[in-house]
Amino acid sequence: MKCILPWINFGTSTYGRPRVCGYSDHDAQWEVLFTDRGYPYPPPPAEQTPEHILKSDFAQDWKSWLNKLENSNINSQWNGVYFREIRKSFLRDEWPENCKRCKHVESLGGTSKRMDENHMWYEKYKHLIDLTNDDGSLPYQPQHLDVRTGTICNFKCIHCSPASSSRWNEDESLIIKYGYEVVENNDQWIVQDSKFWDNLDISQIKRYNFLGGESFYNKRHNEFIKRLNESPYAKDVEIAYVSNGSLKFENMENFKKVRLRLSVDGAEKAGEYFRFGLKWNDWCNNIKKFPSNFDVSFQWTCSNISMFYLVDTYDILREEFPNIRFLFNNHVTEPYHMSVQNLPNELKDKIKHEIDAYMFEKEAREVLPFYINHMFEKDGWNSHGKILLNYLNDLDQARNIDWRASFSEMNLEKYVE
Ligand code: SF4
Repeated sequence: MKCILPWINFGTSTYGRPRVCGYSDHDAQWEVLFTDRGYPYPPPPAEQTPEHILKSDFAQDWKSWLNKLENSNINSQWNGVYFREIRKSFLRDEWPENCKRCKHVESLGGTSKRMDENHMWYEKYKHLIDLTNDDGSLPYQPQHLDVRTGTICNFKCIHCSPASSSRWNEDESLIIKYGYEVVENNDQWIVQDSKFWDNLDISQIKRYNFLGGESFYNKRHNEFIKRLNESPYAKDVEIAYVSNGSLKFENMENFKKVRLRLSVDGAEKAGEYFRFGLKWNDWCNNIKKFPSNFDVSFQWTCSNISMFYLVDTYDILREEFPNIRFLFNNHVTEPYHMSVQNLPNELKDKIKHEIDAYMFEKEAREVLPFYINHMFEKDGWNSHGKILLNYLNDLDQARNIDWRASFSEMNLEKYVE
């Protein structure tokens, strides 16, 4: 049991923290790394950290990891302790803590990101695994780069937060009430600072993976793409995006392939409430035509609201865009009040019944059992039903919208005493 990503992919979190991929739990991985060595986690501030820890290579790795990519670089992080230990775990056929999300999906019979990525890349790159040194380091640089282009975004979706969308900062009352982390200037490493983009070795990297925020709303990203598109390397480069699909996709005609995944949670009025900023008709017009090097899919995320509207959303999109695949790729765990587990049992039964009765395509039928199992795995409604309704009321007030009209088919109030 292995995942090919630690051998080929270098990722960053929204704030520039290195990680293996977008599903990484890097905090859990560091906790194990610290506690296995008998060090406390999180470690005390530098001035209180014992000398022997401060002087170890391990502490140096931790410090440069904390410094993000503003003051560190891909070359040194790629063979830092975080990446090395993950590779060593996979070589022992053990799940690293970093990868518990994939482990969970597979334990419920789902198709994990690991399985998807291995399907695409394992055969091509498996020979690299044999090049691993005993300490987990590799004698080459990553071929794939997976970058979160900061939090800058023109949407503020209701399962999101200021940690992923700058536009969420407009809703101060919600941020305070729901205890979201206040994010200030955390985009600087990628939005304004030129070092990250300018230091990328575009002659080596063959695949880029961008996700925001909204990458196409990031000026530095757009400048970089234009430069790369005009370079002699463009014809060998594949770029993958998850995008909200609301902006123009320009300067990309020279790339070998552009894989574009368009986030979707609901259609029409439900979709507009969910993905605040979305204008459904404009969005449909924007995604009508793509250059021939584009491979476009819809990417649906499972939450309580999106699961309720799944059949509807799927039906509308398959009808209007028969050439765009519909992919099921993720599920909300935080905030928990948006999890699919936070639904009344009666609605869960209704959803299951509708999904069973609908003629989904084969691909969808294969992956849907995971989302249904996950929905029934836990009853969240008793503890979080009221929180969801309060949250929707607060969203209405802050954004001057009306969830009762947008989600009228759910009739949620009926289920709260
Ligand atoms: S197992 Fe999953 S979380 Fe771990 S690196 Fe692979 S895809 Fe990412």
